[in-house]
Amino acid sequence: MEHTYKEPAPITDKENPFESMMARFEHAAQILGLEDGAYQYLKSPVKQIITSIPIIMDNGSIQVFEGYRVIHNDILGPSKGGLRFAPDVTLDEMKALAAWMTWKCAVVNIPFGGAKGGIKCDPAKLSLNELEKLTRRFTANLLDIFGPERDIPAPDMNTNEQVMAWVMDTYSMHTKTTARAVVTGKPLILGGSLGRREATGRGVMMVSIAALKKKGISPDAATAVVQGFGNVGSVSAQLLAEKGIKIIGLGDISGGIYNSRGLSIAQVMEYFTRNRALTGFPEAESISNEDLLELQCDLLVPAAKEDQITKHNAPRLRCKIITEGANGPTTAAADPILEDKGILVVPDILANAGGVTVSYFEWVQDRTGYFWSLDKVNKRLERMMHEAFDNVYHHAGTYKVSLRLGAYVLAINKVASTLKIRGIYG
Ligand code: NAD
Repeated sequence: MEHTYKEPAPITDKENPFESMMARFEHAAQILGLEDGAYQYLKSPVKQIITSIPIIMDNGSIQVFEGYRVIHNDILGPSKGGLRFAPDVTLDEMKALAAWMTWKCAVVNIPFGGAKGGIKCDPAKLSLNELEKLTRRFTANLLDIFGPERDIPAPDMNTNEQVMAWVMDTYSMHTKTTARAVVTGKPLILGGSLGRREATGRGVMMVSIAALKKKGISPDAATAVVQGFGNVGSVSAQLLAEKGIKIIGLGDISGGIYNSRGLSIAQVMEYFTRNRALTGFPEAESISNEDLLELQCDLLVPAAKEDQITKHNAPRLRCKIITEGANGPTTAAADPILEDKGILVVPDILANAGGVTVSYFEWVQDRTGYFWSLDKVNKRLERMMHEAFDNVYHHAGTYKVSLRLGAYVLAINKVASTLKIRGIYG
């Protein structure tokens, strides 16, 4: 049968991380020689839901919002993925992010498919009461979709533990149960997991140490630069420093700071807590975010946002390893440049999968009703991140491709093989 593969998308530096992701999917599918039927299956989301959410605003008026949930794939298990509340949320974005989750879960070998959802709204313009009504009505509209064995949301952009608590409570009211496992990223008191907050940064640290080892660099002799000082960046920086790595540069939206002798993360944290920005930290030189990425170092951790490493700045990078804490920080056009320079890139779908891994632990704990110690969570996370790193490394070696393509090949192969064994119903 004739294949309907698209040629891998022409490499452009378009500011669209999702197109970058799909370009890599196409490429990996070709490397794998994926059967056309399986290729079509894996490209198409299983379900795409658009739902109208009417709520009564605080001023008594009715306002109708649009909500989305896309389940990309549920071959490996119930689908998993965040809820995003933002004015620019679209169905297309949800489709791409849902596929991303499918690959990420497959790479770290957790029994989940991929999903994503959201509401087109500006949470900054909503009162807490309106936000709660919006979340509860959205959840009620999707009662047949969500479920501990069906589809499990989590926090994403502009949603948090409180939003998850409302989803869990609404779902529980309808099912007349205490359905803790219907969402992850819940407050601890409602069945959240210890270690979830730090999990993504911890995973970033673990795979960075593994990558340094592959390059024959001892952590004690290594230097690192971290872009982003939010949840992922600050925890990554702190844990990398605890492993003996000298953090010479840090950056956030306010700009970058640099000290060739190393920054004390404890002091930076204290300064950041007081000033809510990194710039102005007295024990460092101020530099621009562009210059930060181009500092000479062993390890660069982009942990802020997408499209930071492009074909424009990639030729100037002077690091040996990049661990992608953020989703999509590198454009597809930058990939071959980094490869030519011999920079080892630990791709996002592996590097930042610590978060979804501990979300999986949260779901397991909720379903058994038995909660683990922090030590147990961290040890299990370490085992899974190391296994995933080794597996990706092995696939990259077998197919003679980058770790990024190795990760996609691994993920697509896993989902396609499971599909083959399950078969197509009907
Ligand atoms: P966050 O909002 O806590 O932090 C983002 C940080 O990036 C902030 O320090 C902000 O100042 C900085 N930043 C924003 N724009 C910037 C710019 N133009 N230049 C430099 N710095 C800038 O977010 P987070 O939860 O740490 O997430 C960071 C990235 O990691 C995102 O891509 C997110 O999708 C990804 N991620 C997060 C998790 C998680 O568990 N939080 C899991 C997987 C992936």
